[in-house]
Amino acid sequence: MELPEKFAALGLTYDDVLLLPGHSDLAPDEIDTTTRLTRELSIKVPLISAAMDTVTESRMAIAMARQGGLGVLHRNLSIEDQAYQVDLVKRTQTGIISNPVTIGPDATLEQLDQLAGEYRISGFPVVDTDNRLLGVITNRDLRFTPVAEWATTKVDEVMTPMPLVTGPIGISREDATLLLRQHKRERLPLIDEQGHLGGLITVKDFVKSEQFPKASNDADGRLLVGAAIGYFGDAWQRATTLVEAGVDVLVADTAHGYVRMLLEMVERLKKDPATRHVQVIGGNVATRAGAQAFVDVGADAIKVGVGPGSICTTRVVTGVGAPQITAVYEASLAAKPAGVPVIADGGMKHSGEIAKALVAGADSVMLGSLLAGCDESPGELVFVNGKQYKSYRGMGSLGAMSSRGKKSYSKDRYFQAEVASDDKIVPEGIEGQVAYRGPLAAVAHQLIGGLNQSMFYVGARTVPELQENGRFVRITSASLTESHPHGVQMTVEAPNYTGR
Ligand code: 5GP
Repeated sequence: MELPEKFAALGLTYDDVLLLPGHSDLAPDEIDTTTRLTRELSIKVPLISAAMDTVTESRMAIAMARQGGLGVLHRNLSIEDQAYQVDLVKRTQTGIISNPVTIGPDATLEQLDQLAGEYRISGFPVVDTDNRLLGVITNRDLRFTPVAEWATTKVDEVMTPMPLVTGPIGISREDATLLLRQHKRERLPLIDEQGHLGGLITVKDFVKSEQFPKASNDADGRLLVGAAIGYFGDAWQRATTLVEAGVDVLVADTAHGYVRMLLEMVERLKKDPATRHVQVIGGNVATRAGAQAFVDVGADAIKVGVGPGSICTTRVVTGVGAPQITAVYEASLAAKPAGVPVIADGGMKHSGEIAKALVAGADSVMLGSLLAGCDESPGELVFVNGKQYKSYRGMGSLGAMSSRGKKSYSKDRYFQAEVASDDKIVPEGIEGQVAYRGPLAAVAHQLIGGLNQSMFYVGARTVPELQENGRFVRITSASLTESHPHGVQMTVEAPNYTGR
């Protein structure tokens, strides 16, 4: 390996630069933020929610995909729980449900009720052991059976039996809409010629797909979802279980990705017939050589960021890292010629940093603290002095890595999988809280709105144009003071600005 000079070039981060305004003759509605997520997937909004246990579980992943971005499910939970979350996202698609949850005719109404609660759905196709459609059962069918009798009443006693209004597998959106409207139905089971169930369309999902025009969907109209994996212990089993559950993107999730065992893991995932159809993101790196290593093992995207995160103490605990603008730029020098997208992970405080990251060479950005305050992040609201907060902690914090009553699955992110007791853990992150921000839709609106404005100022209609035409000016600390509100006491917080 060829090492750079002892003192590599000056490193810059977000607050060291501004984007220069460029000539613009764009109408705001011409601006298109579509970008490459991985070699094979595109998303309409370049935002990814971080694989952290205070940011992304299924609710956040669903909300992110609906907004046009992607959620990466964290891995500080058992393999089964994480796979179950993948399943929840994949079933909350915006079009046709290709693999609906079903129930058998002999199940009791009590079992049905349990299943409905688990998947948060109100109706099921009823199928025999051969997956042949026998009927459907919905909340409406239950209404006339007293709850006291649910334990003894079977599904086929109250379901609406065949013949039902059904559609053929592969039916077009238009034909399905017509059928649902003609027969005033809420659900349209799709069956083959022998009557086997092959899908389900619900009016609710059709309406949703109109509500979320930018949603990130797979070929079947289901929401895209990512999930974090490691490289240690049962990592392979985790990866294959997630693939079986239908995950679209596996994210090799470590604080330091330029490591032989992780590179081998990515290489294996991209070669193994069981997993190679899934997109694999490698990371994290902060140098050109680190990015090149992931290009060489076939990663579908590369995640950049060693230590920029808001909750991160890696740089002070270890003295290691690279300022994020420089790190993204350096990584892009290896990734771009190979056609591999780059993700800038961590360190974003305001929407303006999204465009800065893209100009530096990223194709999308990963956010933690900016999303941890949303309704959809895990965890309860807490009140402090009358203000609302949500907790937010680093995955390398003591809280996330220690057992504290439950097993930590993410210690290997910080190469401490084999540390036996909590008092021997060396944390690389802190635990804290961020201001409550309301629903993700409102937060995403501000972030995307900010990016749209950036593109307008630079004069870029598309993300590739922004990357190509954007130019930085390096600034001083006096200029940074000038950039933020100054000389005025802020009396009202803006939805996209609460301070430095
Ligand atoms: P934020 O958006 O809050 O600035 O940063 C989020 C990113 O920080 C995550 O996507 C992840 O890469 C990184 N991260 C999360 N937890 C920790 C931690 O405890 N230590 C370090 N070094 N990085 C962390």
